[in-house]
Formats: sequence, C-alpha cells, structure tokens
Amino acid sequence: ATPTSIMVGTGRAAELGVLFRKGEALQSLKDARMVALDKTGTLTRGRPELTDLILAEGFERGAVLGRIAAVEARSEHPIARAIVAAAGAEGLAPGRLEDFEAVTGYGVRAMVDGVRVEIGADRFMARQGFDVSGFAQEARRLGDEAKTPLYAAIDGRPAAMLAVADPLKETTPAAIRALHAQGIQVAMISGDNRRTAEAIARRLGIDEVVAEVLPDGKVEALKRLKARHGQIAYVGDGINDAPALAAADVGLAIGNGTDIAIEAADVVLMSGDLRGVPTAIALSRTTLGNIR
Ligand code: ADP
Ligand code: MG
Repeated sequence: ATPTSIMVGTGRAAELGVLFRKGEALQSLKDARMVALDKTGTLTRGRPELTDLILAEGFERGAVLGRIAAVEARSEHPIARAIVAAAGAEGLAPGRLEDFEAVTGYGVRAMVDGVRVEIGADRFMARQGFDVSGFAQEARRLGDEAKTPLYAAIDGRPAAMLAVADPLKETTPAAIRALHAQGIQVAMISGDNRRTAEAIARRLGIDEVVAEVLPDGKVEALKRLKARHGQIAYVGDGINDAPALAAADVGLAIGNGTDIAIEAADVVLMSGDLRGVPTAIALSRTTLGNIR
C-alpha cells in the first residue's frame, strides 16, 4: 500500500469513529483470522447491577449488605459500584473500615467495625479455606442466567451469595454477526466465572471462551489462541487488557476505556461500539486490496 492509500483509509476510518493510532494496523488487520475480546466493558456495558442476594442461615440482609458495601466503597471494580449502589438504595450506613486489601482477580477484604469481611469469586473463598459448596446449585443457576456469582464471608463464615448482571451493549450482537460474516472467528477472554462467560458467549454465538483468567494470564491465553488460529486482534478496555492489547497482532481499545488500554492499543474505537471492529477490518481489506 502507498502512504497515500493508508492516509485515505485511516481518514475514512476516523469519519466512522475508528481511530488508527498506527498506520501499520490498517495493513495488518486484513490478515486477522480471529478477534478475541474482553468481556466486562467491552462486550458488556461495564455497569453491573446487583440482582440477587442469598443469605446463609443466621445472617440478616441489611447487616451483610451494609458490611460488604463498606469494603467495596474502597474498590474501583465495576462489581464494587453495583454493591455500593444497592446498599445506598436501601439506605444502609457504611461501617468503619480498616485494613482494606484488594486481591486482583479474586476479590476484596477489610475489617468493618472490627469484624473481618471478605467478598469475591469462589476461588477467593477457596483460597481462605471457606466452604461455599452450600451455594453451588444457586451459583450454577445464576451463572447459566449470565449473572456473576460472588460470595461474602463475615467473621470467617460464608454469609451470603450475591449475583451481579452486566447487560450487553446494544450493538454487540450485530458486531459479532458482522465478524462472522467476514469469516473471522470470535473468542472471549474473561476473568469472570466460567458458566457466566459461557452463557454470554452462547447468547452471542462466540466460538471460543477462555474464562476465569487471572489479570496477568490474558497474554498467555491470547498466545494460545494465536498458536491455533493465526493472526489475532484483541479488543479490551481495562488496565488488565493493556498487555494483551500490546501483545496482539492488532490491539483495539474501547475509546471510553482506561487511558492505559488506549495507550497500549493500535486502534481506538471512539464510541465504544464494537461494530467498529468489523468496520476497521473491512477498511483494511478494501484499502489494501484496491491499491497495490
Ligand atoms: P473481570 O474484569 O473479568 O471481572 P477481574 O480480574 O477484574 O476480571 O475479576 C475477576 C473476578 O474477581 C470477578 O469476576 C469477581 O468475581 C472477583 N472480583 C474482583 N474484584 C472484586 C471486587 N471488588 N468485589 C467482588 N469481587 C471481585
Ligand atoms: Mg473490561
């Protein structure tokens, strides 16, 4: 391709809300065999809401929700915002917080009014030796409904299971269909629960799911997909996505995502609309197909 054709292609892309930060990305996108996407904030809106709270015997809703909200008030995770909002809506006063700790990819913990409180994924509970198997049936059901099951422990005892749901962006199904129409395989790489990730993938017709990936495992997951499928593009929005955005053949960041993701990406989707991905691929194909 000539520098002029690249300029024309990137100019046309910009009009469509797809910002090429690097010209080479326009050249390489046409060779993509697979597009791998992050889930939260990329396929979904990234604004989960609390949908369920199931108490263990002997625990009371206000006390549990108030305490975990006190811990989550210190977390920046989208799940944290959902829980804090739910507690606020019920008029629960946050307790006094000490010794807050976020365990990335697992959950958060702190002392609230002198009582130990932990909240996070099942693997977070397993790590401290808490048995949450009493919730297993409910967790499977909620996961199959595309909700994320979470667990709270208070004073070293499993106190509740919660679920949050994060709706898909309205444009996501059309974006996945357009990629398939282009002959591109679609994968999801997520830190979320396996059943939840699989339920969402099923709804979207996504071809492959890599779930329960720890934040520093996304690059490894991407490399394994690349080894099997060839040239791969990665789409993400979060701090955790930056290494995978840099490691992919082409990295595409969500425009309203974190600055760190945008910095690591070759392409920025200005409105966060995933239909920008097939648009960018189509432009790459026409720009480099027509002018040689
Ligand atoms: P993702 O962006 O896919 O949610 P993360 O690595 O950020 O991936 O989190 C993985 C899992 O860890 C979450 O699905 C959740 O179960 C748990 N987790 C992380 N942070 C929190 C938090 N602040 N509160 C509750 N659970 C959390
Ligand atoms: Mg994300």
